[in-house]
Amino acid sequence: MTNEIWINFELVRQFFYCKRIPFFRIVACVKGYSSYKMLKGIEYHSKRFHRESINLVTNIWIECPKLKLRGFVDGLRKVRNEWTILDFKQKLPFQNKIPEHYKAQLTSEAIALECAKNIKVSWIQLQFPGGRRITEELTDSDKMRTLRAIAELRYMLKTEQIPEPTKSSRKCKDCEYRKICLPL
Ligand code: SF4
Repeated sequence: MTNEIWINFELVRQFFYCKRIPFFRIVACVKGYSSYKMLKGIEYHSKRFHRESINLVTNIWIECPKLKLRGFVDGLRKVRNEWTILDFKQKLPFQNKIPEHYKAQLTSEAIALECAKNIKVSWIQLQFPGGRRITEELTDSDKMRTLRAIAELRYMLKTEQIPEPTKSSRKCKDCEYRKICLPL
């Protein structure tokens, strides 16, 4: 049954970035090469957990058996009874807006948290070196959109049908699956 497939938050992000990436990773079981950008990201994430403050908890494992959704959450902050879920990033995104794939990851984390721990998240946030932050409100329509995408992702994993490549060819430049994907 499709609902027996566990989905982790990172896979949701990858699905929003390019639907083919979860196909190569989970269905084809291909381990992509690690690009320079990915290695820098891993290095950065290994350092970030030292930066904790009194109302911030970091590196939390969240698992929701009902939705079969799980993974690590970078950080969770409570200010004046409102919860913010956050992710540490190195580089400011284009136009200082949270990119769609990061938003989907954070939204899936919020959905799992609400379902498993009854914690309602109101804000999502990217946090950068030097303390710079980008914060956006999390809406019900964001959650519905992400839940629909998770259902589509599960269906793709179950049926094992390779999705169309991304329409944005600039994403392929640093993709870990570029060598096996582009000749198709
Ligand atoms: S090379 Fe491009 S189309 Fe293929 S998986 Fe990577 S991002 Fe997607």
